[in-house]
Amino acid sequence: KALVQAQNLSKIYGNGPSKVIALDNVNLEIYECEIIAILGPSGSGKTTLLNLLAGLDVPSSGQIIIDGVDITSLSEEEKTKFRAKNMGFIFQFFNLIPVLNAVENVELPMLLNKYSLSEARKRALELLEKLNILHRKDAYPSQLSGGEQQRVSIARALSTRPKIIWADEPTGALDSKNAEQIKQLIIELNKEFGTTFVIVTHDPSVAQIANRIFRMESGQIVEVINKFEK
Ligand code: ADP
Ligand code: ADP
Repeated sequence: KALVQAQNLSKIYGNGPSKVIALDNVNLEIYECEIIAILGPSGSGKTTLLNLLAGLDVPSSGQIIIDGVDITSLSEEEKTKFRAKNMGFIFQFFNLIPVLNAVENVELPMLLNKYSLSEARKRALELLEKLNILHRKDAYPSQLSGGEQQRVSIARALSTRPKIIWADEPTGALDSKNAEQIKQLIIELNKEFGTTFVIVTHDPSVAQIANRIFRMESGQIVEVINKFEK
């Protein structure tokens, strides 16, 4: 059964002569426990596709079904709740909250999801330990290196045990050593928790960790590369 399904998905920005067809009738399915890479050159529609699938933006036409729910039929408020409960996010520039320290950043999604304070603290510390960053639990984002910030933000994304984590260029701001660590971490977490990762990247070496690669050009998925049978 598909965890994510997109049917005839299109996104058009603007109108008249300045109109841009960012996504052109895309169909796809993503299954539980997969690592998917959306690979393509700048401007090919990768971020637009990710934002639509995650319910962060609204398609011009088409349907998106996540875990059996047609998210295109939800109100903004319902979508926000659905995201908080079912999805985690990882970004190129980490998007940690600067006035919260590492452990507080990891706790925040849990507190918004009705975990108790003590439960959220316990789980945040466990996740920081798992990601080898527990010794930096009291540090603020500005005091952390890029690689450290990305590990905190992965702990944050995992905190509410989502089935799916969306990652937009997760290694884009990291040096090659840290990028390699983050790739290995994604492989490990996918294995251990069965979390589905959908990773937008223009970097073929990041796409190598995926079991399927959706290659995009000009708003279309022009090729699906199957790395191995699951
Ligand atoms: P990628 O992530 O592959 O670089 P994007 O999804 O960001 O591609 O962009 C796809 C196309 O849509 C590009 O031509 C881009 O200029 C255009 N685009 C993206 N966002 C907007 C926007 N908010 N308004 C107008 N055009 C946009
Ligand atoms: P436990 O049953 O003691 O939680 P698990 O092996 O299920 O042991 O999990 C080990 C660690 O991973 C714990 O911190 C747990 O909360 C966490 N964990 C379990 N499932 C998930 C998941 N789907 N996403 C993120 N973290 C998880």
